[in-house]
Amino acid sequence: DIDPLNLLAIEVAAGPGAWIIPRAPGLPDELFEHDGQLTKREIRAVTLSALAPRRGELLWDIGAGAGSVGIEWMLADPSLTAIGIEERPERAVRARLNACALGVPGLEIIEGQAPGALAGLPAPDAIFIGGGASEPGVLEAAVAALRPGGRLVANAVTLETEALLIARHGAQGGDLVRLSIARAVPVGGLTGWRPAMPVTQWTWTK
Ligand code: SAH
Repeated sequence: DIDPLNLLAIEVAAGPGAWIIPRAPGLPDELFEHDGQLTKREIRAVTLSALAPRRGELLWDIGAGAGSVGIEWMLADPSLTAIGIEERPERAVRARLNACALGVPGLEIIEGQAPGALAGLPAPDAIFIGGGASEPGVLEAAVAALRPGGRLVANAVTLETEALLIARHGAQGGDLVRLSIARAVPVGGLTGWRPAMPVTQWTWTK
């Protein structure tokens, strides 16, 4: 277990066994405080690639959870900014703490529920929907708010949300991708694959 607050000290003292913090997206899950609601490392790396940050851009991270996507967006380049929207107060606090611990205290976390909490925010260049896509009006609000050329990336683990993304893909186009990750874990004295729930990802450029 890693205390993110000690990361700087660990980096400075880098030696055998020290954690080296990578610059590419897809940071280890252990670097984030979370309650299980976290976009896991491999899915997060693909998600950041789909969000395609370009210099100076603004991200909305809807359903920010532990804040990992907004944090990695901001870590990609100092010119990038992000606003996270999270309805659960304890998660909003945790996302802010993670942002501070990982070096991007400028990540703004709005405690509130999408789509209502989106009203009045500055227009984004990219939107990630990691939670709330099944809430009436969220996908519509995201499509409407995005600036021309902006990217919308929505991840679904439930059939209900996946059905909405499939319908959007049919109506608006874009890319629909299904991501399945399995991790090797101990099974008795041997090793086996533990699959994570597959993630359906819809990416659309306005
Ligand atoms: N991408 C996040 C994990 C997201 S989990 C990370 O890597 O840390 C989905 C989150 O969406 C949960 O924290 C849930 O509370 C939040 N959520 C669900 N519906 C929402 C809504 N309508 N508005 C804001 N947050 C919402």
